Amino acid sequence: MKFGGTSVGDPPAIRRAGELVSQAAREGPVVTVVSAMSGVTNSLVAAMRRAEAGDEAAPGELAAALARTHSSAIEVLIPDEARRAKLLAEAKELIAQAEHWCRGVALLKELTPRAVDAISGIGERLSVRVFAATLGEAGVAAAAVEATELIVTDNAHMQALPLMDQTRQKTRERLLPMLERGGVPVVTGFIGATSEGVPTTLGRGGSDFTATILGACLDAEKVIIWTDVDGVLTADPRLVPDAAFLPAVSYNEAAELAHYGAKVLHSKTLRPVAPRGIPVWIRNSFAPEKPGTRIGPAGPSAPRGVRAITAIRDVSLVNIGGPGIVGIPDLAAKTFAATAGVGANLLLITQSSAQNDMCFVVQTSDTAHAVAAVRKALAYDLRHHDLEHITVNPGIAIVAVVGEQMRGTVGVAGRVFSILASEGINIIAIAQGSSENNISFVVEEAAVQKAVTAIHRDLGLAKLGPAAKVQDPGAQTKGEA
Ligand code: ADP
Ligand code: ASP
Ligand code: MG
Repeated sequence: MKFGGTSVGDPPAIRRAGELVSQAAREGPVVTVVSAMSGVTNSLVAAMRRAEAGDEAAPGELAAALARTHSSAIEVLIPDEARRAKLLAEAKELIAQAEHWCRGVALLKELTPRAVDAISGIGERLSVRVFAATLGEAGVAAAAVEATELIVTDNAHMQALPLMDQTRQKTRERLLPMLERGGVPVVTGFIGATSEGVPTTLGRGGSDFTATILGACLDAEKVIIWTDVDGVLTADPRLVPDAAFLPAVSYNEAAELAHYGAKVLHSKTLRPVAPRGIPVWIRNSFAPEKPGTRIGPAGPSAPRGVRAITAIRDVSLVNIGGPGIVGIPDLAAKTFAATAGVGANLLLITQSSAQNDMCFVVQTSDTAHAVAAVRKALAYDLRHHDLEHITVNPGIAIVAVVGEQMRGTVGVAGRVFSILASEGINIIAIAQGSSENNISFVVEEAAVQKAVTAIHRDLGLAKLGPAAKVQDPGAQTKGEA
């Protein structure tokens, strides 16, 4: 069971989450993964960025804020004096560590990816201790475990990937004996460590990934991601208020949605569990009576094969073009080797058959180094005017229409693009893989909400009413509870 930031955001939420764990622990072995309390990772990141700019007040202010949030939660949740004193001392030490590291950043005015990972993981190291102690108060034999002892990663700081063989071995060695004794491990989400023990993180929102990595290593029966919405919805509810609840989606669909920005799942969440067929449930920790969404090998039928729509902002379109491009046979090879070399994740790629224009979309935060690397790789071609331009458009967004059953369904793309035309929305680039799991396209950032809302409505994905929200909760939970 994984609990996200809002699900452990304050004492009442932590108590509710604790009850869900205690209940499950009475029925069988449970491993808990916990995110930082909501807002804590953001405040760690904000403080280190201020420190990097030389702001010497940032470390102290960070420490004060962390102490306020965690001490007040501890005072409310832990009446047992000895347990409370021990916990307050541990929290104090971790907060002092965060402050100390931030001071180092402020002194050097330099923030390395390695420091980002060490500092940003403090939130989870605090929250697991609070959560485990809360379970202790309820009579559950829980113990906080740092994932640096379990998850061995590569050294790609801020987006590390697990080395699964080593991770499996360590996880089983450390957690199975605890589970056999009836204990409940409470593991930090988000963090790991290289084989040399250097702390890393799995990327923002990475606690979902922690849960499925551990689920796969332990051959779990299922992974439950407790969050603040009823499950996976047909669109981001902040963008489309009448987004509908989906009782079930397939691994492929969920992976596409996560890849294209649906924040409900970290983009790599399904990787460890999909090949093993372990189901993932997305459930609302504030409404645990609701069944949640089941993510598994296949989903039920969907209107025109479309399951959901998602959008990803904070991305930039990089265009490489000019008539000379036709004469450069290794253009794509050079370009993609360069972007891969700097670790930039390409979200969408298009090239027209006339070969006079190639473009790709990257996260805005990756754009500067991706473009610098491409310019360097194509320096010769640029110098000889084979290439006329490399341009960047930061004001765009990708919209993705996702559904596994679109494969072979005629007319979905036609319908989507005529909806956009009738709304007067210009399409800047289009991509559809041959898997036909998604149709994605680039629009101006300013048009994204209108595009998503119009497609969502016209394809009939909107909520039909309360009765349509949950079709047959009994059937979904059968055999899994
Ligand atoms: P947690 O802190 O539990 O990990 P997140 O904030 O990371 O929670 O993810 C949950 C949020 O994802 C929801 O509150 C919702 O606003 C957003 N979201 C975006 N797209 C979707 C979608 N298609 N279905 C459900 N939630 C979505
Ligand atoms: N606390 C981390 C973050 O805010 C990880 C997570 O919440 O999943 O990114
Ligand atoms: Mg999240």
